[in-house]
Amino acid sequence: MENSRFKDTGETIFDFSDCVLVECPRCRGCAKITGNPYKTNPKLVCEMCGLTDILQITSYGDSAEYCGLSLWLKTGCCGNTLWAYNQKHLDFLEGYVSASIRERLPNINQSLASRLPNWIKSAKNRESILKCIIKLKKQLNHK
Ligand SMILES: [Zn+2]
Repeated sequence: MENSRFKDTGETIFDFSDCVLVECPRCRGCAKITGNPYKTNPKLVCEMCGLTDILQITSYGDSAEYCGLSLWLKTGCCGNTLWAYNQKHLDFLEGYVSASIRERLPNINQSLASRLPNWIKSAKNRESILKCIIKLKKQLNHK
């Protein structure tokens, strides 16, 4: 990880919300929510128990919930909750946290990288966060 570089390319949480993994409200397995909420109501599909549902969007990107459902990828980390919408989001966080050099986009404060909480940005938490990301990736493979 010597001099690894993270380049903020301006992704927002919306770039990661095309397929969000959540806990199924019926069987507690891993269900998917798909659909851009600006165009259509998000749709829940659980392959484990067959539940399908049309949801209302409630909140975005500020808690370990999506459409009122608990995210599948979340874990306690450094006294906070580390969460991700999906594999792509986890990869993004891993790239950000492991980088020793972070390039910020000037004059843009809507990007996901610029809006990450301070405890994720903190270098002292880097190792703990990377361990949690690895744990979540394993969870992804055994869902
Ligand atoms: Zn289910």
